[in-house]
Amino acid sequence: MNWTIDIPGESLPDLPPLPSELRAALDDALSRTALQQPSWPDAEYTVKVRRLLEAVPPVTLPDEVDRLQKRLGAVARGEAFLLQGGDCAETFVDNTEAHLRGTIRTLLQMAVVLTYSTSMPVVKLARIAGQYAKPRSSDTDALGLPSYRGDMVNALEPDATGRVPDPGRMLRAYANASAAMNLTRAITAVSDLRHVHEWNKDFVANSPAGARYERVATDIDRSLRFMEACGVDDQSLHSVDMHASHELLVLDYERALLRLHEGRLYNLSAHMQWIGERTRQIDGAHVRFAALTANPTGVKLGPTSTPQDALDLLEILDPHKIDGRVCLVSRMGNDKVREALPPIIEAVERSGHRVVWQCDPMHGNTHEAPSGYKTRAFDRIVDEVKGFFEVHRRLGTHPGGIHVELTGEDVTECVGGAQEISEDQLASRYETACDPRLNTQQSLELSFLAAEMLQT
Ligand code: PEP
Ligand code: MN
Repeated sequence: MNWTIDIPGESLPDLPPLPSELRAALDDALSRTALQQPSWPDAEYTVKVRRLLEAVPPVTLPDEVDRLQKRLGAVARGEAFLLQGGDCAETFVDNTEAHLRGTIRTLLQMAVVLTYSTSMPVVKLARIAGQYAKPRSSDTDALGLPSYRGDMVNALEPDATGRVPDPGRMLRAYANASAAMNLTRAITAVSDLRHVHEWNKDFVANSPAGARYERVATDIDRSLRFMEACGVDDQSLHSVDMHASHELLVLDYERALLRLHEGRLYNLSAHMQWIGERTRQIDGAHVRFAALTANPTGVKLGPTSTPQDALDLLEILDPHKIDGRVCLVSRMGNDKVREALPPIIEAVERSGHRVVWQCDPMHGNTHEAPSGYKTRAFDRIVDEVKGFFEVHRRLGTHPGGIHVELTGEDVTECVGGAQEISEDQLASRYETACDPRLNTQQSLELSFLAAEMLQT
């Protein structure tokens, strides 16, 4: 089975020409070194795919991107909180209604708890509808095969032929992303706060972690009943906004989904894009490309990041100092965040850039279990979030949000949590295509724990 797009390939319309300055800047960005790119075997076919993607309807719309940008501005000013999460790597086979619903539902459940505990709007951002490309630390895997680089590039199955990058996969990525975005919009348009809270009550009643959170759940319940009794029946109780994000990685895909709108370039493959720890070189193609787009942009900052790295990135990515245009996503590890993050925050706050400070407690806390599975310990994840909140409290800055890898399924990929998943149990449901994700219960537990931390 293959996805095809039926726009006649021989007579594709040209995109409207870019204003000359923008054209030159984009050409400059694309001519720079881009790390982690697939070695496509067929250049001509790659260009053909790109031309096709330049002609398809976009996955998102400029107005939606602008709306998210405004909300992230509120996060940067300390008026809202950002919750971002989803698969490490989405896959085409898992692009099912059940899987998408699970991710969305888990994020919404977490968001209710965080909204209540912060008394702030929670901006909901899924790693969804395009998270199909992965940077890898090695070009080959343990079997000596070319590494899997995400469904947009090659096949997960350990097979030499399937691992050859196939540009046609970018079309499949687009088609899958469009379908995922369609369902995401539909589900969230009719998502009722009451229902989401009922799911949280099920979690409290039926999970080993639940009892601890009974008080918060009861408080939320009481607030909802209070609002109902007062006759509050706002549209916002019956629908939510969920935006889509993925790593800005494979530039042949991302550039093909650029669209010009009112003089600005939008990357309409997503609402928000982020640049990974491995591709954030200041003179590299990814940073310069993101700088030309109107999309809010995240940048991952690992444990060796310096204050100067952050300042240099902001100079390129946020020259006009727009609130929340950049999310600085620290992923330092629970043992490093308390030392490495404060000097970065202090330097950035002094610079006058208002960024979203976001904590990714996943990528600095990965280890290999004796069985060979890549895993993460729930306690370390919680501790990095805790350290992140502590640092911000000490400095008087706003801990803007969290960025987690999760799934709404009952997988066994991260150890610990109230279910006490052990390293021996990892094999029972280890399903991720890349990094280990929190399962539903671990995700909810994390949101309740974060809620407690934010309240005290
Ligand atoms: C990711 O978010 O999946 C990722 C690869 O992160 P990082 O760039 O921080 O390693
Ligand atoms: Mn990951």
